[in-house]
Formats: sequence, C-alpha cells, structure tokens
Amino acid sequence: MEHVYLAVALAAIAGGFFLESMVRRATMHSLPAVPPKELDDSYAPGEFSRFIHYTRARLHFGNVQGVITSGAIFLFIALGGIGLADFWAASIATSLGFDGFNAASMSGDIVRGLIFLVILAVLSAALGLPFTLYDTFVLEERYGFNRTTWKTFLLDRIKGAILTALLGGPLIALVIAAFHLAGSWAWLAGWAVASAFSLLMLWLGPSLLLPLFNKFEPLEEGELRSDIEKYCSAQNVDVTGVFVMDGSRRSSRSNAFVTGLGSKKRIALFDTLMESLQTNEIVAVLAHEVGHYTLGHIPRTVALSLIRNAALFFLLGLALADPDLYASFGVTGMPVAAGLVCFGLVIAPLSYVLGVVDNALSRKHERQADAYAARTLGKALNIDAGASLAGALKKLTTDNLANPSPPRIAVVLHHSHPPLLERIRSLRSQAA
Ligand SMILES: [Zn+2]
Repeated sequence: MEHVYLAVALAAIAGGFFLESMVRRATMHSLPAVPPKELDDSYAPGEFSRFIHYTRARLHFGNVQGVITSGAIFLFIALGGIGLADFWAASIATSLGFDGFNAASMSGDIVRGLIFLVILAVLSAALGLPFTLYDTFVLEERYGFNRTTWKTFLLDRIKGAILTALLGGPLIALVIAAFHLAGSWAWLAGWAVASAFSLLMLWLGPSLLLPLFNKFEPLEEGELRSDIEKYCSAQNVDVTGVFVMDGSRRSSRSNAFVTGLGSKKRIALFDTLMESLQTNEIVAVLAHEVGHYTLGHIPRTVALSLIRNAALFFLLGLALADPDLYASFGVTGMPVAAGLVCFGLVIAPLSYVLGVVDNALSRKHERQADAYAARTLGKALNIDAGASLAGALKKLTTDNLANPSPPRIAVVLHHSHPPLLERIRSLRSQAA
C-alpha cells in the first residue's frame, strides 16, 4: 500500500500533461483558415491572421511550459522532494526552538508546516516566474496587450506575497490546529475554518483587497451613466455598486465582472471597455453582470463549493490518519501540512473532474446571464438588446484575439464561458 499514493500522484501528473497536450493539439488543428461567417465583418483587415498567429504562439508557449513544469514537478516528487522539503522545514523549526521533528507537538507542527509551505511556494514561484515574465513582457507585449510596467509587476508580486502570508498563514495555522485538537471531528473543524475564511474573503474582498491592486471609481456623469441608472433602477439594483476599474493599468484586454456577497457586492467595468464599445454595448455588458447578480449565481456557486469542500475535508481526514500517505512521499512522522500537500497531489484527478463540473455550471450561468440581459435590456431602455450584447461579445472576442469557436474538448475541460458563436446563436434564437 505504501507506494500506491505516490504512484497515483505521479500518474496524475503524467496523465494531466498528456491530456493538456492533446487539448492544445486539437485546438491547433481546429483553427479555421477564414473567419466564421457570423464574424465576417467583425475583424479589421489583418486582424484574423493576427488571431491565428497569436493563438499558435500561445499554444507553442503552452507546450513548452507544459513539458518543463510537469517534468520538473514529476521529478521533484518522484525523487522525494516533498520529504526533503519537510525535513528542512522540521530542521529550521527545531533551530527556532520548536519541537520541529515531533508532529504530535501542535506548535512544532504548525511552525514546521508553515515553513514547509513557504519552501514549496518559493520553489513554485521560481518555476513559474520565467513563464509569467515571458507571457507578460514578450508574448502579450508582442501582440500589443501588455501595459504592465516593471514597477506594477514587482509591486503586484510583493503585495500578493504579503497578503498570502497575512491571510493564508493564520488560515493554515488554524487548519493544522483543528487537526490536532478536534480528534475524529477534525475534518469538520478544518472545513468550518476554511469555509468561514472563504465567506469572509468574499464579503470583505471587494472593498478591502481589490482596491489594493486596482482603482475603482464611480461612473462619470453622461449618457452612459444615465442609461445605466435607468437600467439599474428598472432591475432594482443599486447603481452605487457599479464601478469603473483601471484594467488598462495591466493590459489592454477588456472585461467586466461581478463579485462579493450582500451589501459589499460590486460590479466592475474595465476602463478598456469604454475605449472600444459603444454606449448600448457597454450597458449590455453591464446587464449581463446584473443578470449574474440578480439570478443569485454567486451564492449558488459558493454554496456548492462549501458542500463539495465538506466532502473533500472528510476524505482529507481519512487520508491524514493513514501513515502510508506520508511514507509514500518520503515524509517522516505525520505532519499535517505535508499531509495536506500529499493529499492534494493524490486527489488531483478528482480535482480535475470537479473543475470540469465547475466549468459546465459556469457556462450554464453565462447562458442564463445572456438571456437575462437580452430579456430585460430591451424593456428598460428600448434598444435591441440581443444585437447590443452580440455586438459587445463580438468586439470583446476580436479585440482580445479570443477563439470564437474552440474545439469541444477544450470547451469542456477549460472554458468557463460558452464559445462566442454559441452565445451569438442563442441570442439570435431568443430574439426570434
Ligand atoms: Zn458572465
């Protein structure tokens, strides 16, 4: 039994790599020679071939990144890297005066666990950094998307690391403590801690954390604002929750999103939307986001993830009690943090499947939000809602060089939104 866990984890890494390579190959082969007929007039001259070049470049980049990243992680785990990192962590914890090698000591296990996770985070950042740099400053730059300066890039990383330490550190410490203190109900206590934390983040995140990375400003007076006010009051949505976000600080890509729970929710429109879309198209994008909000998509998604996490924590509780889990990865004793990581590696295939389910649910929500926008916008503002939304979606797709019709396997495995052509067709059939 001892090596079954390791074998499953390694097979999962290899399997994931082959699956992802297959998806990239399918995408490469599915690229059309000419724009789909629904988008005949949507691409400016030369834009469609730019889309093809960009997509190919991204797929090549994905291939290189996949080989190096999966290969490095596979070797690290196969050669006992987890056990070694945990040994270092225990040694450092001991030299700091804690009972680092005794996993039964709660304080020793918490300090050992935090150091262990810092070691893994540093290694993983080092592995990912060259790819992130190339992606941002070479690939995106070459196609005119990048607007991130070195200063912003560096500040983002520093802020991200500080936040992870300030928020993630105590969370992990509490989860480890739960597994020491709560006996056979530890999985439930751990789940309660993690759930409370994620609800708190969702509630406070939009007003406390997001402003650390972006500026949010109320809509300026003008035609757009008055249309949005008219629309929001017809839908009973508080317009003070609508903000313009300086997405242009990092990228020329445009987007919009809704986030948060209860009174802290906010709808953000990227300032880049204002550059490329007409007023009625921007209102249509907003109406789609209002749809997510009004149809309760966020609370539903959150409730589902809390229920699912309960099941995962239950499995985690079983796995952490099995000495073979640790031994399989070369970890001595039964430290909780290392157990968490090993469990995550073993359960990767299940996580992958759950991700596919998440995406399917998200695509369903996107279709519902599209339908909601088309249904309500015409009534409130007397414009052709379907045409406005379709126009916005087309521009977002062509401006962002997004794939209007990716292959089915890519959609099923990766896409949180239905492909553009599918969305335009269903908007049309709704209008008819
Ligand atoms: Zn959406």
